[in-house]
Amino acid sequence: MPDNHLIINREKIRPGEHKVVNFDIASLPTRTSISLPVHIYRADKPGPVLLLTGGLHGDEINGVEIIRRMIDSEDLIPDAGTVIAIPIVNIYGFIQNSRGLPDGKDINRSFPGLKKGGSLAKLLAYTLMKNIIPHIDYGIDFHTGGASRSNYPQIRVDLTNEKALELAKAFQPPIIINSRPIPKSFRSASYREGKNILVYETGESLRFDEFGISEAVNGTLRVMNFLDMKKTKCRSQETQIYNNSSWIRSSYAGLFSPAIRLGDSFKKKQLLGYINGAYGELHSKILAPKEGRVIGLNYCPVVNKGDAIIHYSYN
Ligand SMILES: [Zn+2]
Repeated sequence: MPDNHLIINREKIRPGEHKVVNFDIASLPTRTSISLPVHIYRADKPGPVLLLTGGLHGDEINGVEIIRRMIDSEDLIPDAGTVIAIPIVNIYGFIQNSRGLPDGKDINRSFPGLKKGGSLAKLLAYTLMKNIIPHIDYGIDFHTGGASRSNYPQIRVDLTNEKALELAKAFQPPIIINSRPIPKSFRSASYREGKNILVYETGESLRFDEFGISEAVNGTLRVMNFLDMKKTKCRSQETQIYNNSSWIRSSYAGLFSPAIRLGDSFKKKQLLGYINGAYGELHSKILAPKEGRVIGLNYCPVVNKGDAIIHYSYN
């Protein structure tokens, strides 16, 4: 497709234009119509097409804020190529403070989606695959940890995918973790269409993580610079790349008290925290099974046996 003919949702976006295209998805039971606003910024000069998505999980608002700030500061106006930015993919979840759709379905397990006769999650997934993915070259999808489970800023990428790894390195997040694409996820469906989507994670659901938000804004600007879409001067920083990640689970029910913080590196057998009995009858130390780094931490002290409490990466 020639670069001067970008048509999305029957709207023509010409070089040098910024448009907000609204996809009509479906209405609420109140008949309030729900549309999906998509920002499209085109430079006069041809170049790559970069997609930014937030709120694929409706309660993961760091991604929404990352894209909102970049719209607000005009960071997304490229000197070459096109930026397509969708701050909130799961509008339904966003207004309900929930991860999935009102029926509990997860968009990120519903790809490539279905046009008719499927769930709302499949319809939203289909809308992205049909109308957006064919136009893009690369994407960055912003996520967060769960409720009371916070992630240290990280990009999850298949380390055997050289192109995706190159893009992840250009982003320069504090951490890159090897992660095979999850079946039916946005990343795996896009990869099948030959498009690489980076998955960025920071913080927890329903909370802003200021450090992770600014890391994401700077990382996105570095990617735009790397792709020759915009000249940006973000400070370079070091990225640590890890081949593996694993969760430490609680051996007992009780109160979890960490002795480390998100992002900390630790040695084998280092004290990582305690599980204490609520009635003073138990003190259990959690020791590091091997050398690694804390990439996710459970902030809810009340835990059951088997609960995931510390997510760590290692090589
Ligand atoms: Zn998510």
